[in-house]
Amino acid sequence: MNETKTSEDAARLLAIVQSSQDAIISKKFDGTITSWNAAAEKIFGYTASEAIGQNIAIIIPEELYPEEREIIAKVKGGEVIAHYETIRKRKNGDKIIIALTISPIKDAGGKITGISKIARDISDETEAKRKESMLAAIIDSSDDAIISKTLNGIITSWNVAAQKMFEYTESEAIGKHISIIIPPGRIAEEAVIIENIRQGNKIDHFETVRVSKNGKEINISLTVSPIKDKNGKIIGASKVARDIAEKAEAEKQRQLFTQKLQALNDYKDEFIAIASHELKTPVTVVKANLQMLEYKMANDANVEFVYKTLAQVNKLSELINSMLDVSKIQFGKLHLYTAVFELDTLLKVIVENMQQTTLGHEIICKVCDETLLANADSKRIEQVMVNLLTNAIKYSPNHGDIIVDAIKTDGNIIVSVKDNGIGIPAGDIDNIFSRFYRVSGAAAGFSGSGIGLYISAEIIKQHGGKIWVESEAGKGSVFYFSIPAID
Ligand code: ADP
Repeated sequence: MNETKTSEDAARLLAIVQSSQDAIISKKFDGTITSWNAAAEKIFGYTASEAIGQNIAIIIPEELYPEEREIIAKVKGGEVIAHYETIRKRKNGDKIIIALTISPIKDAGGKITGISKIARDISDETEAKRKESMLAAIIDSSDDAIISKTLNGIITSWNVAAQKMFEYTESEAIGKHISIIIPPGRIAEEAVIIENIRQGNKIDHFETVRVSKNGKEINISLTVSPIKDKNGKIIGASKVARDIAEKAEAEKQRQLFTQKLQALNDYKDEFIAIASHELKTPVTVVKANLQMLEYKMANDANVEFVYKTLAQVNKLSELINSMLDVSKIQFGKLHLYTAVFELDTLLKVIVENMQQTTLGHEIICKVCDETLLANADSKRIEQVMVNLLTNAIKYSPNHGDIIVDAIKTDGNIIVSVKDNGIGIPAGDIDNIFSRFYRVSGAAAGFSGSGIGLYISAEIIKQHGGKIWVESEAGKGSVFYFSIPAID
């Protein structure tokens, strides 16, 4: 009877051991494996017949042998080691994390005869825990408030930054409705957000205002995304709120700065307008008197001083006229007086006149004999040509030919001025038609005001034409402008 009971118990125990999810192994003190259940096969990859009789070292990484020796010593002393986390090795060499419970096996007389080991593979569990704690650490170290809520708006998580930003502790916030941080005037936003979330849409960088526990209004940028359960069903929303007070402040400062800059620019334009206007009359009078003096002193040896003074006054007068033109452009008052004229003839006359101003350059007019009729403001076109030729002469200190050409194509007349001068670096080409822009480097040694090309470009623009340049530093430049032709 007793014997039957014992064998029944043994069979029951064996069944339990075999059906256990944990590896259950027994071994002798010398490490020889004496039993190996089904879970041990699954976890470590060795079948029972492969493992039994082998040394337990087959599943222990070499570096952990000393640890194993220590454990055996403790168990020999009668100690039970529970839930000890360590690393073991599978048959294929993979390392796994296991939780071990190790107990002595005693015979009927209480003598310790071996060791039983229960091992649970906790690799997945540990990995999941590691990921979870890593995510928790990221969320807690974020400067953005990260909040989750149900589809009914009930707060379910609240990170450290949310506590700082909205002044509610985690325990104060969780379980409350999200409306605790929404200003009364913006409550309607929440319904729109939730509706989007229900439809599976994400809300990105929505700039709005939220309110803290103490009533402080906070400018935030909100990103709200749906939270789905394992089956893909939307069960809530995660909110990331970024404090954009600094950004809003910076934007405010930028706008103020732009306004101030605009005001200063307006003052400057006004100043140029007034100064050039006020300068024009006295300079015109000085010029007229000098011309009179030049005439009266025609036979006087000192007339040379009058010439020199007159030349400088002419330069001053040109500069004042340019400044007046800039003002006119700024205030939209540069008017054209157009008439039909022969542009080819005008170009020939200008070339002849400009040739008088330079000894070192030869200005070649290639304009063909074909008549080029234009309906334009001839005075203003002359001004553009004089500017282009003055520049071609000025920026060709080593002389060389300057070629003026004009062709008619596709209803336009294209005029070009080519020099062999210092050229323009690629990085400056886009800017040279801007107001007051002057090229630095090689060009800096030439005096100028940086307004000639700006005025020329405006004049051509008003004619419905285009102005451009092809140039390379050190290799000369070709300036082009086009204006509509008439047949
Ligand atoms: P300014 O000659 O009075 O400086 P411009 O508006 O006429 O002003 O020209 C703007 C700039 O473009 C000049 O400062 C010069 O650097 C460059 N530039 C203009 N024409 C030439 C040219 N033919 N060759 C080289 N650089 C030129």
